[in-house]
Amino acid sequence: MLSRFSHWLNQRPRAFVPSLCMLCGRDSGRGISLCAACAADLPWHGRSCATCAARLPEAAPEGALCGACLRRPSPLAHCRALFAYQDPVARLLTLLKFGHDLAPGAVLGALMAEAALAWPLPIAGVLAVPLPASRLKRRGFNQAQELAAPVARALGVPLLLKEVSRQAETAEQSGLSEEARKRNLRRAFTVLGPLPDSVLLVDDVTTTGTTLKALALTLQAAGVAQVSALVAAKTRYGGGRPS
Ligand SMILES: [Zn+2]
Ligand SMILES: [Zn+2]
Repeated sequence: MLSRFSHWLNQRPRAFVPSLCMLCGRDSGRGISLCAACAADLPWHGRSCATCAARLPEAAPEGALCGACLRRPSPLAHCRALFAYQDPVARLLTLLKFGHDLAPGAVLGALMAEAALAWPLPIAGVLAVPLPASRLKRRGFNQAQELAAPVARALGVPLLLKEVSRQAETAEQSGLSEEARKRNLRRAFTVLGPLPDSVLLVDDVTTTGTTLKALALTLQAAGVAQVSALVAAKTRYGGGRPS
């Protein structure tokens, strides 16, 4: 009880730091730089497949799978995208990725943390989808990590920083079959250290989910029992059709 109380005391003053909404500029009235009205107007991703986040009709029941995942089960136990890849979320993600502006990462990361806290599965560690080493060197930081850090903090589980690396994708992929490309992508990830039983992958954007699935297969081969994924935004194309 005492530790809970001191936790509350530590958290409380933060909630009262005035914060301006990064979209409308008004006082957000809460601890993050996004007011409730602007948050409500964001392009929230509607009902989607539970294991690849492809859009489904709104009438689909919670936990429904798309046709592609029914035919071929996804290696992801659960997959959720918070938003459709549209403005202003697309603009915020671009600022985070290329503008070296970390504030959008803090806001989107806080919204993702909220979603992760309502997660239906256990999570023992959070892994930002790694960038290939060369790209990481060029950019100086991994934007997915800016989103993964608040998620790990909210869940109270480790952020897995050094456990998995990613090599540069090998040159000519275009002449290869879909299967060969997937195999190459899978080989690009290397597990370097021990991993917990259940891992949540975090990324900024997904299109077809190929990268998330390749990484999930690599982690499973290394003994991780359950891999799930949470992404900030899903582009309109890719994924399976609704069944
Ligand atoms: Zn606002
Ligand atoms: Zn699916």
